[in-house]
Amino acid sequence: MALTSGLGGQLSIDLGALARNWRALDRVSAGALTAAVVKADAYGMGITMASKALHAAGARFFFVATPDEGMAVRAAVPDAHIFVLNGLYPGAANLYVRQNLMPVISSVAMLEEWLAKCVERNEAYPSAFHFDTGMNRLGFRLNEASVVRQQIETLGYAPQMVMSHLACADTPNHEKNRTQLALFSSVLNQFPGIPASLANSAGLMSGRDYHFQMVRPGIALYGGRAVNGRKNPMAAVATLHVPILQVVEARTGESVGYGATYSLSRNSRLAIIAHGYADGFLRSLSGTNMRPGGKVVIRGKACPVIGRISMDTTIVDITELGSDLPSPGEGAEVLGNLIGADDQADAAGTIGYEILTSLKQGRYNRSYVGDGNLPE
Ligand SMILES: *Cc1c(COP(=O)(O)O)cnc(C)c1O
Repeated sequence: MALTSGLGGQLSIDLGALARNWRALDRVSAGALTAAVVKADAYGMGITMASKALHAAGARFFFVATPDEGMAVRAAVPDAHIFVLNGLYPGAANLYVRQNLMPVISSVAMLEEWLAKCVERNEAYPSAFHFDTGMNRLGFRLNEASVVRQQIETLGYAPQMVMSHLACADTPNHEKNRTQLALFSSVLNQFPGIPASLANSAGLMSGRDYHFQMVRPGIALYGGRAVNGRKNPMAAVATLHVPILQVVEARTGESVGYGATYSLSRNSRLAIIAHGYADGFLRSLSGTNMRPGGKVVIRGKACPVIGRISMDTTIVDITELGSDLPSPGEGAEVLGNLIGADDQADAAGTIGYEILTSLKQGRYNRSYVGDGNLPE
């Protein structure tokens, strides 16, 4: 929701950092094309501005989940090559053709609908083929490879790309990575000469073997952690400041918030911030006496969330700030350099992806700094 008063929270997206992240990944995958995954409103960053900045940084291949997202990228970047990961929506072939969107075809039904459109218009519209190598999610089953090959051979059709997706790339030592790599290679034997793509961000960071001809990073572009247990090398892209509404004093033994799930073990000072679960601040970041919750940076210091997160507000314990009292209207940093999406994710028992994509529902002003045109 766009705010007009300028009084709400401020979500700042650093397009320069986004562009630097893309270039850094492009250097790691040198030899393969580096695409950009911009689904879910570019992981909450804004699909239009993110796509433009990524294009300025050098990206030419874009992955979205839905045809609507594909249309948004088409409008932002007229010469983009756009793959739609959810494939061909039934009945949507005309739209894909008109918008020059490439479905990532994952079933025989989708393939038949797409090939029928090609025959009807007498044109080999481009697409990618997705094989499932171990997620049991989208994709042709492995034993469908020869049927798929026969179907396209009859028509003399060739996909632009054959792809698969890794289930456990965030855990590089997981044996499933090698298994999927081997199964994917066996699929590729059936499609000689067709470019291949397997790696998401974590796959890209797992070495050359996973790169093939194109890599498909998403989360790492937006500064999120792709690989578990390693220091995250990417630059943060999103910073979110929300206003402090009120500072209150409360006494030992008193409870805080709905359900009285937190009771104070000392006389305390609390800041009430204008940010709640309706803004994407997950309720699982609530803090109880048994289990700490998320943190918010006030006056440069990480202060704990206590009690349940409400729809529009959150209670933060600022007792540790002592006499360094914040004033109403002052910003509290929910995401930024001191507390990143992955820190909030760890506290919430989720992943940075969910923290970032939850930003889209927030009641704040979204502004952009920088652009994709960096001096080299
Ligand atoms: C979302 C997605 C990606 C990007 O994954 P990240 O982990 O965000 O880098 C790549 N490929 C497919 C098929 C996806 O669904």
